[in-house]
Amino acid sequence: MIKIEKSKFSVFIQNLVGDFTVFAPVGEGRQSAFDEVADAESVNTALQNTVQSPKSIFFPQTEVLFTYNDGDVQIPEAADKPFFLWGVRACDARSIMLVDKVFGRAKQRPDDPAFEDPYWKAKLDTAVILTLACNEPASTCFCHWTGDGPFEQAGDLWAVDVGSSYLIESLTEKGKAVLERIENASPAGKTEAAEIDSLRTQAESYLGDLVDLSELKDRMKQMWDDPAWDDIAAKCVNCGACAYACPTCHCFDVQDEGKKGKGKRIRLWDACMFPLFTKEASGHNPRGQAADRVRQRFLHKFSYYWDNYGESLCTGCGRCIYVCPVNLDIRTVVKRFLDIDAAV
Ligand code: SF4
Ligand code: SF4
Repeated sequence: MIKIEKSKFSVFIQNLVGDFTVFAPVGEGRQSAFDEVADAESVNTALQNTVQSPKSIFFPQTEVLFTYNDGDVQIPEAADKPFFLWGVRACDARSIMLVDKVFGRAKQRPDDPAFEDPYWKAKLDTAVILTLACNEPASTCFCHWTGDGPFEQAGDLWAVDVGSSYLIESLTEKGKAVLERIENASPAGKTEAAEIDSLRTQAESYLGDLVDLSELKDRMKQMWDDPAWDDIAAKCVNCGACAYACPTCHCFDVQDEGKKGKGKRIRLWDACMFPLFTKEASGHNPRGQAADRVRQRFLHKFSYYWDNYGESLCTGCGRCIYVCPVNLDIRTVVKRFLDIDAAV
């Protein structure tokens, strides 16, 4: 682990910009996002977390898969430089790995070769992710419920903000290679380790009560016909904001834009909360009611993904709570299905 003074942060970013496309948190409040930065001055180092997650760097909201012109098909060239992400929170670093299980190494059956989405893999495989510990989790954070935590180590590099400096540790070979480039750094020792412990304890004290999710996978399935789904649906307006803000939601649609044999095929985000998401060409919609759609969202998060990959598809980032226009709180929904006193 090394220690780098914050006064040298701009040198650190500048040093990376030549060889990487650098992404970092920018903007304020609801406009905050991970975006490409050319210098340290553009980075908002004071954000708890961005409202738009870093998922969009690897899985953009709209992405051209190829263009076509009278039978001539052109696939867009891959980015010329690898990506470096500075300041990703632990929940989001793990979210990227959860989506990677689907886009990077999904299997229909155990003996099948892994399916690899070339657009996702081309960006992620060469990317270097620096995770920044959360000294002050937000009131909407519940990463401790999903087996994560504000000081969980994830990504290629792990950093802690200790006031006037950052402490940075490499977790992978890619991270180590970046750490070796940092100039003006000093080695961290026992004093810094004690500082991290103290900050970790303080950060964990900001999180609310702990809820055990181990029963949830089966409870939600057993309660398939429960009136609770109607209660939740009565509140939800099917706007899809929760899915668009979520770092693990990964449903998409594919559309062609063009005419007379010339155009482009694009992939764009879609959401199970939208009424047309499952509408079939016949006009039949297997999830025609709002309750069907909210049940799908929660079962995918806490049951179906678990069946496929042995963990839940939620990392407790709290974005869906923050963006929901009707204050539908996923923690309240979970508590209701676990019989913990909570009104939806
Ligand atoms: S479901 Fe909500 S809390 Fe969970 S990862 Fe998605 S946005 Fe975050
Ligand atoms: S953000 Fe809220 S209202 Fe909108 S679809 Fe999600 S749960 Fe429903």
